[in-house]
Amino acid sequence: MKANSEAPVLKALAPIVHGFEAASLGEIEKVRAVDLEIAVIFGGPAKTDDEIAGAIGYRVSLLHVESLHELQRIEYIAGQLQTVVPILLRVNLRGPLSAAQLQMAGVPTQFGIDEVRVAEAIRLARRLPHVDLQGFHFHSMSNNLDAAGHVRFVDLCIRKSQEWASEFRLPLSYLNAGGGIGVNYQDVEQQFDWDAFTSGLDRMIREQEMLAGMMEPARMGAVSQDQGLPAGSLLFECGRYLTAACGYYAAEVVDIKQNHGKQFAVVRGGSHHFRLPAAWKQSHPFTVVPVEEWHYPFPRPELRDSAITVAGELCTPNDVLARDVFVPRVRIGDVILFRYAGAYGWSISHHDFLSHPHPEHIFLE
Ligand SMILES: *Cc1c(COP(=O)(O)O)cnc(C)c1O
Repeated sequence: MKANSEAPVLKALAPIVHGFEAASLGEIEKVRAVDLEIAVIFGGPAKTDDEIAGAIGYRVSLLHVESLHELQRIEYIAGQLQTVVPILLRVNLRGPLSAAQLQMAGVPTQFGIDEVRVAEAIRLARRLPHVDLQGFHFHSMSNNLDAAGHVRFVDLCIRKSQEWASEFRLPLSYLNAGGGIGVNYQDVEQQFDWDAFTSGLDRMIREQEMLAGMMEPARMGAVSQDQGLPAGSLLFECGRYLTAACGYYAAEVVDIKQNHGKQFAVVRGGSHHFRLPAAWKQSHPFTVVPVEEWHYPFPRPELRDSAITVAGELCTPNDVLARDVFVPRVRIGDVILFRYAGAYGWSISHHDFLSHPHPEHIFLE
């Protein structure tokens, strides 16, 4: 959900995904506004009591538990509501994990339960009558471009789950490998090799005979009416990979200037609309769309065969969308069109910094 939670995007995805992963009540409400039945998984490292109760009220399929204390709180709230909540324990693996652009696990972060405390968490969960431990959640990275590395990561998740399942005789229904499949913003021709990933995954799972070995036969394949997710599943929560390519961000060049030997194209827009490149301090891929209209009675400035830095309208030197990128030509009045802007674009931006108007959003259906 956090990669892009616009209603038309959710509506387009709902028929082709099993469900949505939400990390706030607001996100759950956005899912429920477009689909009353679809499965929702609820996670996040700082859930409040109201959010936990709210998620239970919205009949989420699974709650991801991020700490031992949170496990006790979920038990307490579920007990008050006289219900039993299906949960996965979110594990922060010790690693080392495949190198991705952002790491949520394998390194010290606020996410999940340290691998060394998972046994303790399992013992506690099994003593608590209002939680039903159904498996593990491993979301560990973002923007991984290495398909073979991602197969090895899922392999590690399965082996860890199997170890805990056999040690504690746990009937596992779900293994959630999280998101993290990447988009190559540096070289758009070299994208994550989806076919290599799925065929590698298929081979690895056959070798492991994972579904036969770790899943309780009674639960396998049965689609739980309450949960809406087929039991005995390996789940993925792809955010970036699903939504990046559907979005474009277009901004008009309002000025061109040379300062300290560098060429700048300044656009009507910037990181308050599209914060991803500034957040990751990288150049975002774009093309220049020529616009022929020119209504001023003086010559139109242009650059040819130049390296340009695309800056926005905010009064901060951090408002840069691309740096030193070669273009054959750019003129004031042309439009800079950024590709792969559908994930973590508008959704992560500080829309009201400097109080400029919001951009127009257009959804092509
Ligand atoms: C952000 C997030 C995702 C999606 O990650 P992508 O890198 O966009 O695929 C999935 N699961 C959890 C728990 C997340 O926090």
